[in-house]
Amino acid sequence: MIDLSQNEVWFVTGSQHLYGPKTIEQVAEHSREIAAFLGASAHIPVKIVFKPVLTTPEAITDLCLEANSTKNCIGLITWMHTFSPAKMWINGLTRLKKPFLHLHTQYNREIPWSEIDMNFMNLNQAAHGDREFGFIGSRLRLNRKVVVGFWQDADVLSSVGAWTRAASAWADAQGGKLARFGDNMRDVAVTEGDKVEAQIQLGYDVYGYGVGDLVKVVNQASDAEIDRLVQQYVDEYDVAPALKPGGERNTSLREGARIEIGLRNFLEAGNFKAFTTTFEDLHGLAQLPGMAVQRLMRDGYGFGAEGDWKTSALVRAMKVMAAGLKGGVSFMEDYTYHFSASGDKVLGAHMLEVCESIASTKPRLEILPLSIGGKADPVRLIFDANTGPAIGASIMDMGQRFRLVANVVDVVPTDEPLPKLPVARALWLPRPNLKTAAAAWIYAGGAHHTSFSFSLNAEHLQDFADIAGLELLVIDENTKLADFRDKLRWNDLYYHLSKGL
Ligand code: MN
Repeated sequence: MIDLSQNEVWFVTGSQHLYGPKTIEQVAEHSREIAAFLGASAHIPVKIVFKPVLTTPEAITDLCLEANSTKNCIGLITWMHTFSPAKMWINGLTRLKKPFLHLHTQYNREIPWSEIDMNFMNLNQAAHGDREFGFIGSRLRLNRKVVVGFWQDADVLSSVGAWTRAASAWADAQGGKLARFGDNMRDVAVTEGDKVEAQIQLGYDVYGYGVGDLVKVVNQASDAEIDRLVQQYVDEYDVAPALKPGGERNTSLREGARIEIGLRNFLEAGNFKAFTTTFEDLHGLAQLPGMAVQRLMRDGYGFGAEGDWKTSALVRAMKVMAAGLKGGVSFMEDYTYHFSASGDKVLGAHMLEVCESIASTKPRLEILPLSIGGKADPVRLIFDANTGPAIGASIMDMGQRFRLVANVVDVVPTDEPLPKLPVARALWLPRPNLKTAAAAWIYAGGAHHTSFSFSLNAEHLQDFADIAGLELLVIDENTKLADFRDKLRWNDLYYHLSKGL
């Protein structure tokens, strides 16, 4: 469902006429080579499109306006192989609406000690050309990512790649639609927020629907469609015998399939990228959608439970960033703790809705009671998550701004099997430890819901936050609680003052 290969990043090199046509040709040749190399890198999932070298304010402005109006263009990479006086860039950059990355590299890796002359120096002068360009970016207070290093090095390619993923998620959110079935879980605070402000700042639009609108589409699912989907379940999962065709609870599985068909059709027909449900508003649905939500998330949809549209949009953004990477992205909730001498741990799960993209083994498809909500028993996929480094991120409306907070964690195998736990789960050690991480999270006002990923790291989220103009607080192995609390106070001032009127 998510394909980043159609997205274009334009590779833009600045120069000036003073060097004469021969040098400009050389600059163009080198730029073309670098653009092709970036485009071919496995680290970079989008197309890198070479653009002719820019040497005048008019050409720079035209390029920026063309980028704005080109749908597939998700951003620019800028590089000053030679010197490009930055007043030439003011008109273009102030009009540019797409994100940009400033690649501070040099065509030559090393100084040719015995050969170097002034011709070489005048061609390979990014060391000062990029400083002139950097000044105007900072003078204009423009958000951009600066990546430094030789263009063939893996760390440079990886950093550029992370940014292209963030820029892809940003492009995906602009004009993106999210369907919200029912409202918020009554009385819950952190899942609420200003949807108009979210649309202005983050680009996506939240559409509210009565659950009856969904029920109508769910009821249109035909027996033949349900037969086919049930067969897919049997092929893909370890299905509990009672749920299989002929089993005494097969009707419940068919209800689950009906809900999946209806939800999918509703989302496809409306071109939605994400959705929410709430167990408090299920009138006309036989079960809380569990397996259906898990499978739709697997296919790339964002999801938030209890009406949590902000987390749903964040799950979608992280799904886009993670497209094609191993590991997966899921809606998640910090559920319960294990305080232990071997390290305090968090058991993460939800009532049902954990995405199978993070499963370590073939999920079991089962039916068990839902201990809350008073509806029929829902079908659900049960599994243990992958293990290894992961990141959980949460977005809150703090009243004056949205805040993104993230914790880097290490997911580990459970100490013992969990034979009676009827939901998918992940067990992790937060970095630097639970005491610091949970205190920092709580001081920051972080939600209980997160978007949780094995595919992404703090760099992806930082790039996304920078593009979106979002506050981001990362809790990781370097976090010191006292410093973190200072940062919260300073950020309150910064984000208040920087907004102006
Ligand atoms: Mn929840």
